[in-house]
Amino acid sequence: MLKAKLFNSKFQVFHGVGKPFSFEGKAQEIKLNTGEALVKIVLATICGSDLHTIEGKRKEDVPCILGHEAVGEIIDISGRPGFKIGDRVTWTIADSCGKCPACNDYGLPEKCNELFKYGHASMSEGSGLNGCYSTVIHIRKGTHLVKVPAMINNSIAAPANCALATMVNAVSQAKKFPKKVVVQGGGLLGVYACALLKEMGVPNIYCLEVNENRFDLIRKFGAIPVDARDTLKATQCILNKIGDGADVIFEVAGVKELIQQGVELLRPGGEYILVGLVHPDSELSITAEQIIRKCISIKGVHNYAPWHLEEAVAFLDRNYMNFPFEELVSPPFGLENISEAIVEAKKQNWFRVSLNPQL
Ligand SMILES: [Zn+2]
Ligand SMILES: [Zn+2]
Repeated sequence: MLKAKLFNSKFQVFHGVGKPFSFEGKAQEIKLNTGEALVKIVLATICGSDLHTIEGKRKEDVPCILGHEAVGEIIDISGRPGFKIGDRVTWTIADSCGKCPACNDYGLPEKCNELFKYGHASMSEGSGLNGCYSTVIHIRKGTHLVKVPAMINNSIAAPANCALATMVNAVSQAKKFPKKVVVQGGGLLGVYACALLKEMGVPNIYCLEVNENRFDLIRKFGAIPVDARDTLKATQCILNKIGDGADVIFEVAGVKELIQQGVELLRPGGEYILVGLVHPDSELSITAEQIIRKCISIKGVHNYAPWHLEEAVAFLDRNYMNFPFEELVSPPFGLENISEAIVEAKKQNWFRVSLNPQL
């Protein structure tokens, strides 16, 4: 255990739906327990789930510091072999105990009995520095840290610990090597899926997207964009190209009406991997008969485990030159301008809007 030291921090506090954020600061003495670290946030990105919280589609204990996608530099650390002050790192969005059945037997530490998620915790927990819309975050001992290689700049690295690691998990769920894949949704999760599949060597990747402005980037991320505004036409367009259907479909659009389309697009025995529909308005209109007669598998993927984050960073290290990751993220807003940044994020001109708390 280290001696207590005085740390200054500034952060944006979320007080609930419809209430303004308050920009606050404090100087506090923090004594790190073994395995803990304090990290200076150098860039955070606004994830869709933060927008859901701000809009009231999901509920958090308030007051809290939102934000979980970020990259930072260690400013203090205790008992973490291999890591030191000054290292640039990313970390798992979940802290897990390492002892419960989910951690040990199920291979799902992201479903730990004692799960703690950054950016979703009340400020009354621990030091209160639990989110990334802050100059400093307090990392717990059950959180996996990964060093960010020097060549990966902050805007490429920031979304790795939510969006990219989740898609590494999703893509790793396919049981056999797929030849024909459909990605439903060309947002950040979608283009990451395309890039991961492209790197694997999947020859046919189709990405359904309603926003034509995204088609160029979808192409650059290795997929053929398909206009999804007319669902029937889009389905036919893909079936004309891939015959009896896709081996795997990734759902990252979060739109329940698209499930029927997905089932139609799957070949017999195909796999449907659901990622985006993680909200209450997700009752599906397919029948068990459709699932059974087509012998399809449906798999849900929520968050990820430490090894997926390791692979996400390794993937970026191999591919930062191969895909235009930097084009996905806006120039940074200062932390005091969080309201403007949120307005910009809602416009969806960028795949992610970024905040630099050190500006
Ligand atoms: Zn997220
Ligand atoms: Zn656990």
